Amino acid sequence: MDMAFTHVCLWTLCAFVLTWTILHVTNRRKKTTKMADAEAEEIRDDGADVIIVGAGVGGSALAYALAKDGRRVHVIERET
Ligand SMILES: Cc1cc2nc3c(=O)[nH]c(=O)nc-3n(C[C@H](O)[C@H](O)[C@H](O)COP(=O)(O)OP(=O)(O)OC[C@H]3O[C@@H](n4cnc5c(N)ncnc54)[C@H](O)[C@@H]3O)c2cc1C
Repeated sequence: MDMAFTHVCLWTLCAFVLTWTILHVTNRRKKTTKMADAEAEEIRDDGADVIIVGAGVGGSALAYALAKDGRRVHVIERET
């Protein structure tokens, strides 16, 4: 009887540790993925306030005006 109780306790403990480990690892992976996504987005837009596509007359003039106004501008031009 005593032995059976010890077994139940041990298995319960094992199940608890296993569940906790799985949840911990899953949460860590989710956090790592979220952080990587945020970093990738930050790198993609340089943390810019405005992204201008096309560095023609209009795009360049707008980029200049906005940058002078203190905005962080990122210009993307296909013809580079
Ligand atoms: C043959 C010709 C002669 C002209 N002569 C005169 C003239 O003598 N005097 C005058 O005042 N006007 C002239 N124009 C008109 C003038 O060129 C345009 O009005 C003016 O360039 C428009 O400026 P914009 O910034 O809107 O576009 P654009 O100057 O065309 O700039 C658009 C930019 O966006 C880029 N781009 C487009 N798609 C993407 C994309 N998906 N990703 C990244 N970049 C992209 C292009 O590479 C380009 O650099 C002429 C136009 C032509 C076609």
